[in-house]
Amino acid sequence: MKIAIEELAGCSGCTIAVLDLHEALLDILEKAEIVYAPVIMDVKEPPEGIDIAFVTGAVRNRENEERLTLIRKRAKTLVAFGTCACYGGISGLSMLDSPEHLIQHVFRGVSTTRPDAPIPKDVPKFLYRAFAVGDLARMDYYITGCPPKEMYLSKILPALIAGEVPALSRKSVCSECDRTMGSVDGWKLRRRHEGVPDREHCLLGQGYLCLGAVTFGRCGASCPHSNVPCHGCNGPSLDILREPCRDIYNMMIRRIADLTGHTEAEIEKEMYDVAHTFYPFTIGSLIMEDKGISKIRDLVRERSL
Ligand code: SF4
Ligand code: SF4
Ligand code: SF4
Repeated sequence: MKIAIEELAGCSGCTIAVLDLHEALLDILEKAEIVYAPVIMDVKEPPEGIDIAFVTGAVRNRENEERLTLIRKRAKTLVAFGTCACYGGISGLSMLDSPEHLIQHVFRGVSTTRPDAPIPKDVPKFLYRAFAVGDLARMDYYITGCPPKEMYLSKILPALIAGEVPALSRKSVCSECDRTMGSVDGWKLRRRHEGVPDREHCLLGQGYLCLGAVTFGRCGASCPHSNVPCHGCNGPSLDILREPCRDIYNMMIRRIADLTGHTEAEIEKEMYDVAHTFYPFTIGSLIMEDKGISKIRDLVRERSL
């Protein structure tokens, strides 16, 4: 069994998550050989005959697109691995800025570069937008998470290598959270730095924008367990993915209205920085943008002008 890990526009954290399996990785390596993984070995191009390839990162430039096409040809099974690959992830946030400004900011506007330095010719050109890998190539499986969490990877990877699909939870983060539901009297929206949340009660009910209800689980609700609201890094919950009339923003507004008794209009007035608050991991996904009720298209248009 030959496996590969391809890197597109991401932070390499997903590959490191595989290394973080520690001893469990040794069991996997008894059955499978890693033949290509640019972050951890010096191989420039994926070989022929890969059985399973994991693609991490989004598609943001021409080189990412070419690499995705090549790995699709060379792998029998292709897995979108991590939230950047599945939904554009953090890389998608680059769509809130113009390509010219991004180039200026990354290659010229930092203290270690000259503002007038020419851009090297081999820097790949940006595509007009970010893409999730499934927007451009056929995927066989999706594993979300930024990065996918060890407690599930240690079940998923051995099963895939054995040709099986593990039976795991498909529920939202809320289903893994043990906080008491309900809202406090006089509910009002709170920024994360305002006060210290009570450890027993639902964070959303206390006014903190916890996206647990609209986010796919399989992280053990690790942020709420640490008294931090979920910010949606596992991507949308399955009901949002499946239902055209459900979107992260509109479902959160509806949920807060149900929880607090305020009208949806009142709640919407309180919302701030909708792009970074509700879509930081999904803005680069065509599937999420193409929903008629999604705010992504307007947000990108407004911010990138
Ligand atoms: S999903 Fe998260 S950890 Fe993985 S490449 Fe993207 S930003 Fe990095
Ligand atoms: S909204 Fe957040 S804090 Fe409340 S139950 Fe869901 S995950 Fe837990
Ligand atoms: S609680 Fe939310 S933000 Fe935290 S790891 Fe889970 S999905 Fe990601």
